Amino acid sequence: MSSQAVETRVKKLGASVVKALGGRNFEAYYCDTKEEAAELALSLIPEGSSISWGGSVSVDETGIKDKLRAGNYTLLDRDTVDTPEEKTEMMRRGLTCDVFLTGTNALSEDGQLVNIDGTGNRVASMSFGPRSVIVLAGVNKIVQTVEDAYARARGTAAPINAQRFPGMKTPCSVNGTCGNCKSPDCICSYIVTTRMCRPAKRIKVIVVGEALGF
Ligand code: SF4
Repeated sequence: MSSQAVETRVKKLGASVVKALGGRNFEAYYCDTKEEAAELALSLIPEGSSISWGGSVSVDETGIKDKLRAGNYTLLDRDTVDTPEEKTEMMRRGLTCDVFLTGTNALSEDGQLVNIDGTGNRVASMSFGPRSVIVLAGVNKIVQTVEDAYARARGTAAPINAQRFPGMKTPCSVNGTCGNCKSPDCICSYIVTTRMCRPAKRIKVIVVGEALGF
């Protein structure tokens, strides 16, 4: 298949998913590239905002963190603390920030987000607390149905995510596939479907026509 055909399909799919997200009261956008997505996200963040983020490879890959560090914002940056206790405290403060940045584990074509979390801070912030949430969603996260989204989050995103933590002893960490564990290290404590955005437009979803994260 030609890359032109892939590009054309991605643009059409992006437009369709943006429309579906809008129908669920998300504020939704489509960008061709991650650089455009970072610029758009920045334009959605008022100067002086307090900002937090979940552990997200998608957010990292857009390069937006460096732009925020260079700007006039208050960053609740968990990457800068030294101890687990400080990290937890930083995540607690992040629950009441102005803007929370995150990726998503999966996004269904009808506009539902599915996310898995070990400690819950990310899905908590997506659901309530921060005044505004910006989701950066690469085209690789789009699947047909919400059931596919759940399967993607469990079967693909979580086992890859587990590889980022070398000391973990979960089945997915060892075997690369989900063993439906109840391990103390389990990163799948909370599985949240964000079916609608309430209040309307609190969650901004930027669909990106490139792969972001895993
Ligand atoms: S093995 Fe456990 S931690 Fe790994 S993906 Fe499955 S439920 Fe999650």
